[in-house]
Amino acid sequence: MKVAIYSNDGFTSKKVATQLKEKIDASEKLEYDGLNPQIVISVGGDGTLLSAFHHYRDAISKIRFVGIHTGHLGFYTDWRDYEVKELVDSLEDDNGQSVSYPLLSIKVQYTDGGPDDSFVALNESTLKRINGTMVTDIYIKDEFFEKFRGDGLCVSTPTGSTAYNKSVGGAIINPQLNAIQVSEMASINNRVFRTLGSPVIVPPDETITIVPDSPKHNILTCDQLLISDRPIKSISYSICNDRIYFAQYRHTHFWKRVSNSFIGVHEDD
Ligand code: NAD
Repeated sequence: MKVAIYSNDGFTSKKVATQLKEKIDASEKLEYDGLNPQIVISVGGDGTLLSAFHHYRDAISKIRFVGIHTGHLGFYTDWRDYEVKELVDSLEDDNGQSVSYPLLSIKVQYTDGGPDDSFVALNESTLKRINGTMVTDIYIKDEFFEKFRGDGLCVSTPTGSTAYNKSVGGAIINPQLNAIQVSEMASINNRVFRTLGSPVIVPPDETITIVPDSPKHNILTCDQLLISDRPIKSISYSICNDRIYFAQYRHTHFWKRVSNSFIGVHEDD
């Protein structure tokens, strides 16, 4: 089985990546292949896994990811830095076991006459205005829904629902659900202007389209990347046809992960 390692530059991460590489090279069942891997092991934190996802974006239907965390517990990282041997044993015993989660498809049209763009997010995409209130029309399934005024909008996947989305008051979605969520950032609500004021969660057949009143001064992001500062005509969000696959050698119950990360409940509490 062909395995790649994608590590951040931290001291511990680099040490773990070196140990992993040595064990992969010594294994008769594993082969290191950074170009066409079947398994990508990310070493670092959630941000490293996000970077690994974007690095291998064009091949993700053929790849399963594994995350080793070298800092605090992450959402995409199941393995600890001291578990390299256990992980390599699991890789050698691999029988293709996996779990997959939805991704967000982002299609952007511009007013500058240039080509449209399309992107895929693992966590979320945000649209924010850098000077003044962002004013946009929001359509759900091509029906006008509302005119939004505020700082910005966050459109997230279920696995991304615990990231930026949570910080702006969005709901946490179990990633077994195939859905996307739109959350507001500091919307203006008074006697003149009105938004729904709560997050919206839509099913697979519903596209969210955002049309800014002003094409300029908007910042569009995809996970940790700034993806465009061209003048935006419209952005359409839907659930991507592709999914992300993780090699599931061990299973952490989603809600246990949520409570461990955000509430800090311990067995002996
Ligand atoms: P970063 O270093 O700023 O880390 C942001 C934090 O988000 C880290 O603690 C990371 O572990 C956590 N995180 C990332 N994905 C997560 C997930 N799916 N569930 C729970 N926590 C998650 O940036 P980074 O590590 O490069 O991560 C980029 C992500 O940071 C973006 O996709 C966005 O979700 C998040 N972010 C959050 C805010 C906010 O909460 N106000 C602002 C900007 C970016």
